[in-house]
Amino acid sequence: MLELRDITKKYAIGAFRQTALDGVTLNFRRHEFVAILGPSGSGKTTLLNMIGGLDRYDAGDIRIDGKSTRDFKDRDWDRYRNHAVGFVFQNYNLISHVSVLANVEIGLTLSGMSPNEKRQRSLELLERVGLSDHVHKKPNQLSGGQMQRVAIARALANDPDIILADEPTGAIDSETSHQILRLIQEIAKDKLVIMVTHDDAMASTYASRVVDLKDGRIAHDSDPYDLQEERRGRLSYKRTAMAFWQALKLSFSNLRTKKFRTAITAFAGSIGIVGVGLVLSLANGLNREIDRLEQTTLSTFPLQIDRLAFNIDVIRAQGGGPPRRLEGETYERRPDNEEIYPYALPPFEAEHLNDLSSEYLTYLQGLDQGLYHEMTIRYAVDMHLYHTLPSGVDTRLSTGGVNFAPTLSDPDFFFDNYDLLGGRAPDGIDELVLVVDAYNRLDSAIINAFGLSAEVDAYGFDAFLGKTFELIMLDDRFLYDDDSGRFVPITDVDTLMQQPDNITLTIVGIARSSEDAVADLLSTGLKHHPELTNTVIEHAKQSEIGAAQQAASVDVVSGIPIDDSIKRNQLQRWGVDPVPRQILIYPVDFEAKRAITDYLDAYNEDKEDADRVLYTDLAAIVTNLTSDVIDGVSYVLIAFSSISLVVSSVMIGIITYVSVLERTKEIGILRSLGARKRDISRVFNAETALIGFFAGVSGVAVAYALTFPINALIDRLVDDINRMAVMPLPAVFALVAISVLLTTIAGLIPSRIAARKDPVAALRVD
Ligand code: ADP
Ligand code: MG
Repeated sequence: MLELRDITKKYAIGAFRQTALDGVTLNFRRHEFVAILGPSGSGKTTLLNMIGGLDRYDAGDIRIDGKSTRDFKDRDWDRYRNHAVGFVFQNYNLISHVSVLANVEIGLTLSGMSPNEKRQRSLELLERVGLSDHVHKKPNQLSGGQMQRVAIARALANDPDIILADEPTGAIDSETSHQILRLIQEIAKDKLVIMVTHDDAMASTYASRVVDLKDGRIAHDSDPYDLQEERRGRLSYKRTAMAFWQALKLSFSNLRTKKFRTAITAFAGSIGIVGVGLVLSLANGLNREIDRLEQTTLSTFPLQIDRLAFNIDVIRAQGGGPPRRLEGETYERRPDNEEIYPYALPPFEAEHLNDLSSEYLTYLQGLDQGLYHEMTIRYAVDMHLYHTLPSGVDTRLSTGGVNFAPTLSDPDFFFDNYDLLGGRAPDGIDELVLVVDAYNRLDSAIINAFGLSAEVDAYGFDAFLGKTFELIMLDDRFLYDDDSGRFVPITDVDTLMQQPDNITLTIVGIARSSEDAVADLLSTGLKHHPELTNTVIEHAKQSEIGAAQQAASVDVVSGIPIDDSIKRNQLQRWGVDPVPRQILIYPVDFEAKRAITDYLDAYNEDKEDADRVLYTDLAAIVTNLTSDVIDGVSYVLIAFSSISLVVSSVMIGIITYVSVLERTKEIGILRSLGARKRDISRVFNAETALIGFFAGVSGVAVAYALTFPINALIDRLVDDINRMAVMPLPAVFALVAISVLLTTIAGLIPSRIAARKDPVAALRVD
């Protein structure tokens, strides 16, 4: 059944070529016990390795059941080894980190039996070699004879046709040797056993045929075999393959024997994961806090629609500010230049003029009133206020200086956000309220505008309560001059303050931003009734000067020619043709704000860019900007911690390489059992994947554990922030996956090195 024809094998040792086998021709019977005798170095082991397909012959042919092996691929040899051959080595070659039972099972593993079948068959074999009581021991807990029995049981596992034994009793005492040989003799009854030995007596006692080898040649054959009687059969072996699950089990048991190293490696691998995990947790927690802030505290911050809006996206893209120079124009500095060049600066692209037309205001009236507390429309109408200073002098009040603006029209909303400190709540258009900040402070500029000294430590409420101001209507500020046809401004303050249409405004209350106010909705200063502006506008619209100005192409006060835009401006400031300067909408809550912005967006939907009305969501700008900053910082931090990920991956690669070196013997054994190269790399890939998994899981666990002290610390240091670090769930899975992926990649090179090891050389390693 097995024919060796003129087999030659040479080894190259530097320039020198050592002939190990020199034209060996040998035929074997289907069942016989052949002993190969010969002095050391005569080529016995080489011959056995050729027959077992562990090594390749240089010339000649080995025919199995009449089929040549010359065209055998690696894969064919792997199958052949797994199904047709069982090896028994002098030094047993057991895998030390798994049990006796598992050692026997490994050969079966490669042939794809079910776990139950494997266990059953392995137990039977161990019973046959007399080791039933030792199946769960590790190999190093057995004697030499017992270990060799395990090796024999393993060799028999796949019920091979050929058993190859290389000096199986070489390391065993003579008493035990006889037992082992009797066992082999028993096996040889229905198998071909080829045993290498240098013990003449043993060979002649037990073997049915003795072949003498000398210098790589057959010196004598006690019972040569004539091939003709052999019936030709067919070669067909099942595919051998190790399931990934099996590779994982093997790696796991190996890692278990090296707990400390595995722990250290996994720890090293986990450092980067901890870093990235913490950064992700912090970024996630912070963004959540900011969202919470936006939803609660900032939600009632008003949405602001300004006549002159800024497109924040354009500002961000351009860096802000109008261009200093016009594109394409060159400016020359000539000392003798005596000309002046008019030029028009192009409009600042980020500037957007919102057309707050009556059409738009009507659209706003359509907004569900339940969505907002308040909608304030502020007009760009000049208010002329006069008052008597404490010194007794009458003078005009700088409305800009005291932040003269409408208060909130809804009293409930006002008192949700403001406490009344003194006086009473304003009621009616002629009553004013003075708003101070949370610490009862008032800007010195405002104090000065009232004609008071800011050097004084504190003022009593009575310095302000009851104070009155005269609001002068447009027509009352001018006198028509028949001669010139112009309107002359009245400059005499006493006359102005006594005009019949004046409205006398009185400060009746002092209010302060309340402690649980969501925001300082009104700035500090003097606040008037929202309807007051309308009264001024009504007067202006019916004024003589207003009508005159509308009809004229000159400034009716100065008589200077004016263009349309200046005229329009004049009419706006006077209130004759008022245009809203700003609209403020105070949403009731975050959801309402969404609904309002959706409504505002809907207006712009089918409009040209220029006709759109842009609004400002100050709260969103703040939170978006902060989120952007957090994201940016997170990326940088993640990049830094990724460096440690890479470093630990390289380290894991190195450690895997060390493991490859250590497990060289195991690689040889697996190969002798029929494992493919791919199976070997699988074992190591499984090992690095396992380490990566441990590293990932422990890294995420440590990062998660660290979020608690970090949160406790931040809670102490910062008000208003509950949980700064929150590990996002997707990150948990992503980080473990990344860890497994990185370590597996790191282990690819060492695992390839392992797979490429020469099985014969690997088996020789101790
Ligand atoms: P035996 O098993 O009979 O002691 P071997 O088959 O191991 O002898 O070796 C036969 C000859 O081939 C020896 O001279 C040995 O040095 C040489 N040899 C065997 N394997 C190798 C190898 N991998 N590289 C170089 N020389 C080798
Ligand atoms: Mg040898």
